Amino acid sequence: MSDDEGGEEYLFKIVIIGDSAVGKSNLLTRYARNEFNPNSKATIGVEFQTQSMVIDGKEVKAQIWDTAGQERFRAVTSAYYRGAVGALVVYDITRSSTFENIGRWLDELNIAKMLIGNKCDLESIRAVSVEEGKGLAESHGLFFMETSALDSTNVKTAFEMVIREIYGNIS
Ligand code: GDP
Ligand code: MG
Repeated sequence: MSDDEGGEEYLFKIVIIGDSAVGKSNLLTRYARNEFNPNSKATIGVEFQTQSMVIDGKEVKAQIWDTAGQERFRAVTSAYYRGAVGALVVYDITRSSTFENIGRWLDELNIAKMLIGNKCDLESIRAVSVEEGKGLAESHGLFFMETSALDSTNVKTAFEMVIREIYGNIS
């Protein structure tokens, strides 16, 4: 947050968490590069993408971090969370176990969060209802949205909602 010749700049670190294969990496590549990878393998190494948006005429940059495949071992390191001001907590609407594990992920950090039910294009094999998602979000005071990294439904909206929420908290 620097004030440089009257222009203000914001840089927010946001993390994406949730069980393996819920679509975290694809949500990020859809948002940052408008790309989807049907055969994505576990992310190797810590990776982040930076995206900018304008709020109140100010440039707000979000540095969005993707887990390094550590999610399978419940071993996301503190370095990953350090400095984060927001999080997308993602489950897969076709796998109940990923929804049941959300509580554990929520316990990991105390920052602006949004609950994401991803893969909403797979309506025919849905295992977690919209109502269940909404209910869990309400009970934890989170925003909620169903997304599809595959067909782009709500991806931009979800990321921008978190960024706007963080901006609203600090400005
Ligand atoms: P991560 O382990 O959470 O990073 O998950 P990935 O982004 O690697 O995705 C895991 C698998 O789910 C891959 O085969 C993706 O192609 C697929 N996938 C991710 N998002 C979606 C989605 O919105 N819809 C569908 N149908 N498949 C998805
Ligand atoms: Mg990944």
